[in-house]
Amino acid sequence: MRTSGLKSLASKKLIDLGRLNLVHQMNDSFHFIPGKNLSLLLTCEHASQRLPPPWKWPHQDNWLIGTHWSHDLGSEACGLELAELFGCPLLLSRFSRLLIDPNRPLNSNTLFRETADGKMIFLNQQIKEEEKKTRINLLYKSYHEKLQQLTFDLKPQIIVSLHSFTPVYESNPRHIEIGVLYNQDKSLAQEVSDQFRSYQYESRLNEPWSGRDGFMYAVENACQHSKISKPIMLEFRQDLLTNAQWRTDLVSRLYKVLSSCLTQHVVQG
Ligand SMILES: [Zn+2]
Repeated sequence: MRTSGLKSLASKKLIDLGRLNLVHQMNDSFHFIPGKNLSLLLTCEHASQRLPPPWKWPHQDNWLIGTHWSHDLGSEACGLELAELFGCPLLLSRFSRLLIDPNRPLNSNTLFRETADGKMIFLNQQIKEEEKKTRINLLYKSYHEKLQQLTFDLKPQIIVSLHSFTPVYESNPRHIEIGVLYNQDKSLAQEVSDQFRSYQYESRLNEPWSGRDGFMYAVENACQHSKISKPIMLEFRQDLLTNAQWRTDLVSRLYKVLSSCLTQHVVQG
């Protein structure tokens, strides 16, 4: 019954794709990969540690490359694998969160992060206003405009923002494996987290930080005027998400979890 519900949803959503400008698109801000299953949209705000030209890492910042400070390890692979399985659209950022963080509001004091682990980030010391405007217009706004356009045009039922977190925080190991973040609507997050727990994952709601504290800004902002799209953010522990076998198992289970939620949404609707 659930499968047929999902099929009917998929066929309803197979509308005039050409009209929606659903084409592969890549620039310095984002990489958009289209898909035919429009009930779901995946996003990944911290997918990349790339610095688009003309930016370069100051040599003092080389230690940040390859770390969670520059991007969310494993999140891009997770997005690509899940999007392929679902056949759904995927929006990936193409710039490091250290250049400008697209998952924070413009007035956030970590929009241009100046320190990491108590050390100075040279890329962001005494940035001039003109430089800030360039980063905002070229990278941040471009990403958000694309996300808002996709939300408005595709009207996906669920938007899932994919992220990863460090296994150790301030010398304390984190035992949580998956965080399901929400702000306004708990029901979808609760359902997703309950289903993760049924697969024996250590899943918690609004941990290791809360969607109620502005930490899922990008998808929240895109959905704020939508009566259709529900946003959630998933945080996976990065030592697990960068393990290919763990990720493969996760993606196949996440496919079942989200399919079930989409079907229930259809039945309820
Ligand atoms: Zn992140």
